[in-house]
Amino acid sequence: MKRWLTPGAIALSLVLLLSACDRKPDAIYQQQILALGTLVDVVIYGVDEETGQQAVGRVNDILEHIHHDWHAWEPSKLTQINQRLAKGESATLDAAGQRLISRSIALSLESGNLFNPATGKLIAAWGFHSDERDDSPPPADEKIRALLAAHPRMSDLVLEGNTLRSTNPEVQLDLGGFAKGYAVDLAIAELKKMGINNAIVNAGGDLRAIGNKNGIPWRIGIRHPREAGIIASLNVEGDESVFTSGDYERYFDYHGQRYHHIIDPRTGRPAKGTSSVTVIHQDAATADAAATALLIAGPAQWQKTAQAMGVNQVMLIDLEGNIYMSERMAKRLYLMAEPTPNIEIVKLP
Ligand code: ADP
Ligand code: MG
Repeated sequence: MKRWLTPGAIALSLVLLLSACDRKPDAIYQQQILALGTLVDVVIYGVDEETGQQAVGRVNDILEHIHHDWHAWEPSKLTQINQRLAKGESATLDAAGQRLISRSIALSLESGNLFNPATGKLIAAWGFHSDERDDSPPPADEKIRALLAAHPRMSDLVLEGNTLRSTNPEVQLDLGGFAKGYAVDLAIAELKKMGINNAIVNAGGDLRAIGNKNGIPWRIGIRHPREAGIIASLNVEGDESVFTSGDYERYFDYHGQRYHHIIDPRTGRPAKGTSSVTVIHQDAATADAAATALLIAGPAQWQKTAQAMGVNQVMLIDLEGNIYMSERMAKRLYLMAEPTPNIEIVKLP
């Protein structure tokens, strides 16, 4: 068995060093917590230490709840729901569960099924329902064909009041493509409820930022998909989320071929042609789902999918390092790539 080749593993080993509360002189309260299976950085401007600590505690609780309730393979509310749906039975959802599920259904429809959290069986077949992966081969073509033939879709779900059922027993939910964004939205909502209006919740590079830092925008980096360090930086201010999906986040190599964790529901195989997609949108759940969907859409179809999802700030990097950007993204990004890559800028409505 070998561990996933993921930055998360590195983050894990750093956590002991970084978990100590870091009190900066200019009224910035910053603390790193281990939640959502990643290192989450919470930065709050203009609060005293006690408020900061309390806020981070609440953020931690929210993220942990989402992580445990909606975990795709460890026993969770979600695995129970999946068991019931597979047997043709209905599942009862509490109010929070209803909101989360209906949101995932809506985002999936907007994405034209590219963001398809109903394909849990396919994701499991590729070995991604595990913290560790052995060196077993990718699933056989026949197995992929059978899973595709079942056409699991979010539109197979029927949510009536607190009751969820599926018209297709092959639906198995995996919310890994948007749960982080959904959780970050809830965390920011909680901070706002506490009267905190200047903060960032940054979950391993995917973040939502509100307000600013004493009048100065928050400055953030976007990870280079192929090199250590960042490929671009930008200022965020007001209330914005920045989410990146990449083929480097979780993957395994088999006989010299790399297989990553974002599965194209049309082919049943890891999406081809794109190394990363960054989306800026107000809410994090949309940004997260859109980044996943656009990575699958690829250089030829990202514009159409972005428009369908109501997203207009996008950067897509293909496997050759060519960059495709919407005009609104291009205007605010400080690119640091050397040598300067080919860049195509597109006007999205
Ligand atoms: P990350 O959070 O690792 O940066 P994503 O947000 O793109 O990346 O989520 C990837 C995860 O989404 C996968 O690990 C899997 O759980 C799930 N997933 C894979 N393919 C799809 C898909 N086509 N639609 C929805 N979720 C997917
Ligand atoms: Mg995503």
